[in-house]
Amino acid sequence: MSKSIAIPGDYICKEEEYIPHRHVYVDELGNVRSAVIGKVVLDNLNRRVSVKPFKDIKIPKTGDVVVGWVTSMRDDIAFIKIVGYDFTKLFKHNFTAVLHISQVTDSKGDNMYNYVRIGDIVKVKVLNDYLPLLVTIKEPKLGVILAYCSRCGSPLYFDGNKLICAICGNTEQRKISLDYIAVRGKKGGV
Ligand SMILES: [Zn+2]
Repeated sequence: MSKSIAIPGDYICKEEEYIPHRHVYVDELGNVRSAVIGKVVLDNLNRRVSVKPFKDIKIPKTGDVVVGWVTSMRDDIAFIKIVGYDFTKLFKHNFTAVLHISQVTDSKGDNMYNYVRIGDIVKVKVLNDYLPLLVTIKEPKLGVILAYCSRCGSPLYFDGNKLICAICGNTEQRKISLDYIAVRGKKGGV
C-alpha cells in the first residue's frame, strides 16, 4: 500500500492484493493505479480497492468525443491520457482511458501497434461513465489526429494514402481520423 490520497497514475497496490474496482486501473506490470484524484478505499471484506474521487470532478459521459495522447501500450491495449473535448476546451483534470484492440478493429489477432503508437494524439469516443474510461476509435472521425515518426520524432503528414515523415522519409501506418491535422495540400496542413 502506498498512501491514502492518490492522484492519477499513483501506485496503490499489486493486482493480486486487491481486485481493482472503481476509478482504478491495472497497468502493464500488474500494478493497480489511481485513475482520479481522491481517497483510496480498501474493501477488505470483498478484497476490492477503489479510489473515491474528490467532489466537483466532472467525468466525460458515454458518447462524448474527447482528445488525448497515448501514454503506454502493449499488443492488445493502449492507455490514453484524456485532456479535453478538444485542445481549446481542456478539462481541469486529466483522465485515464483504456483502448482495447476490439474497439479498434474487427480482425482477430491484430496488433495495436498497427493502429496507434505511444505519443500519438488521438480522438476517441467514450463508452462508459466511470473511470477508467473505456473508449473506441471505430468510426471514421475517430482515431489518430497527429502521429509522430518512430525514427526521428517529427510529425507525420498524410498524403491521402499513407503517413510520411517530411524529415527522414519514413512511412508509417495508423488508424487515421478524418480530422487528421497534418494533411498535405490542405489548408493548415503541411
Ligand atoms: Zn522521421
